[in-house]
Amino acid sequence: MSILATDAIVLHAFDYRETSRIVRLATRDAGVVSAIARGARRPKSKFGSAFDLFTSGVAQLAMHPTGDLHALNAFDTTRTRPQLGASLGRFGAAEALSEVCMRFGQEDDSGRVFEAAERALDKIGQAAPEQVAEAAMAGLWHFVAGLGFAPSLDACASCHAPLDAEAPVTFHHRAGGALCPACARRAAGGRTLPAVARATIATWLDGRDAAIADDASARAHRRLLREFLEEHVGDGRALRAFVSWEELRPAPAKAAPR
Ligand SMILES: [Zn+2]
Repeated sequence: MSILATDAIVLHAFDYRETSRIVRLATRDAGVVSAIARGARRPKSKFGSAFDLFTSGVAQLAMHPTGDLHALNAFDTTRTRPQLGASLGRFGAAEALSEVCMRFGQEDDSGRVFEAAERALDKIGQAAPEQVAEAAMAGLWHFVAGLGFAPSLDACASCHAPLDAEAPVTFHHRAGGALCPACARRAAGGRTLPAVARATIATWLDGRDAAIADDASARAHRRLLREFLEEHVGDGRALRAFVSWEELRPAPAKAAPR
């Protein structure tokens, strides 16, 4: 086994047998990995509370040469993210993000998932309640772009004809983006994407922030992204945490008057 010390974020953790925990980590140097923390559930475990979700730290991993379950020898926490548990909106968004990281993540990904997860989790944690959804959407679409899955938005995904920036288009998940009117007529399915929503997604793909006008648009954006991810994850399983986040009622912009 080779030993590796790498920056990591806890994406998921669950109990294993009597005394252990299994964690899924996004790491800078080994991609997304699963590791067993032996003895983590014993009282006075050296791991302490290191496996709070979305905690960053330095993981000491003993890498299994052939298997996909490595051993976590130590985890030194560098930062926790308690603000992500402070509201349902933030927690739901962070869980959706972590699910996407695990589903897309692979070992040896050059740290792309780690960097995207860290950036997006911080964005979600710092966002005002009414901006959590757009912060998460920005992080997720930028993540999609970083993985090389960005949908085609300014040219037809099928025939590559340029698309009118002012016009609504048909967004077709399987085709991989927006379709021109002629290709849209030939392709079954697809969703109508208004020009403003298309421009917003392009901004997010670019790694910049964009505001969402209202709750209905926020829901439509989440649904479109979830369907796109499910199409491109390609393992046929629904993104359950993402669905829960999608169904969350939006946070009120202001406290209700008493
Ligand atoms: Zn076309």
